[in-house]
Amino acid sequence: MICDLHAHSYYSDGELAPTDLVALAEQRGVEVLALTDHDSVDGIPEAQAAARDSRVRLIVGTEISAMWFNHDIHIVGLNIDPEHPILIDGLKRHQAMREQRAQKMGELFIKQGIPGAYEAARDYAQQGLIARPHFARFLVEQGHVKDMGTAFRKFLRRGKPCYVPTQWCSVTDVVDWIKQAGGIAVLAHPARYKLTKTQLQHLLRDFVGAGGQGIEVAASSHTAQDVLTMARYSKEYELLASQGSDYHGPSSHAQLGLMPQLPNDCQPIWRAFL
Ligand code: AMP
Ligand code: MN
Ligand code: MN
Ligand code: MN
Repeated sequence: MICDLHAHSYYSDGELAPTDLVALAEQRGVEVLALTDHDSVDGIPEAQAAARDSRVRLIVGTEISAMWFNHDIHIVGLNIDPEHPILIDGLKRHQAMREQRAQKMGELFIKQGIPGAYEAARDYAQQGLIARPHFARFLVEQGHVKDMGTAFRKFLRRGKPCYVPTQWCSVTDVVDWIKQAGGIAVLAHPARYKLTKTQLQHLLRDFVGAGGQGIEVAASSHTAQDVLTMARYSKEYELLASQGSDYHGPSSHAQLGLMPQLPNDCQPIWRAFL
């Protein structure tokens, strides 16, 4: 079964409307698709409406930022009730933090001699929330950097001149919102964090302790070795194995529905909700 449990629309930092994402999923033969916008469920009603007239089965999701010590961690919530008040309240807090962060970033760009960054990011984000790729896109289009990666390396990453730290809610709180909303909390792309092996194991213990139940084993950013490592952790920590492309749109390297294969001995997470 072609199952993609991690994808973005323009309600966060993706490029496509939820309707177009669902249409693309159908075209690519994706049978199960989760829409997982950063800190938002605003694209869900549109995605549900589009999925109703298609062969795609839509899983209601979100990808929530969380703090773990000094690290930004992403937690995907799958099969959530998008109207649950505790979840909505938490997402609203994160959306307010994003708006404040974006304004501060705009001020830092002015100090770097680059005016208009906040306004441009706001414009790109349209009705959605602002994420760092919106700033990156502005920097590329204005010719300040040659590509998005350089924008992150020169300006947007932690320690770079326009980085603004954000006090996201804790892993414990975020997992709790997802569980309260009836969903399954999944640790997103665990190989992408700059964590040592010991730190990742510590994070996994805390995540499981908080009620986390899944881990992205087959993420499109994972190497073959990462997949094997995360498959091993999924067994060791009794976590269900998830998979996803983390598709953001036509100009990102990921392709919808495309990710490494889940090893045969993993417990696929979709059995929990299909
Ligand atoms: P934010 O949630 O606003 O902090 O933005 C994080 C998002 O930026 C991630 O979800 C990725 O989509 C994107 N991102 C992170 N690092 C890079 C990079 N080096 N190049 C392009 N996009 C990136
Ligand atoms: Mn993103
Ligand atoms: Mn992520
Ligand atoms: Mn993502």
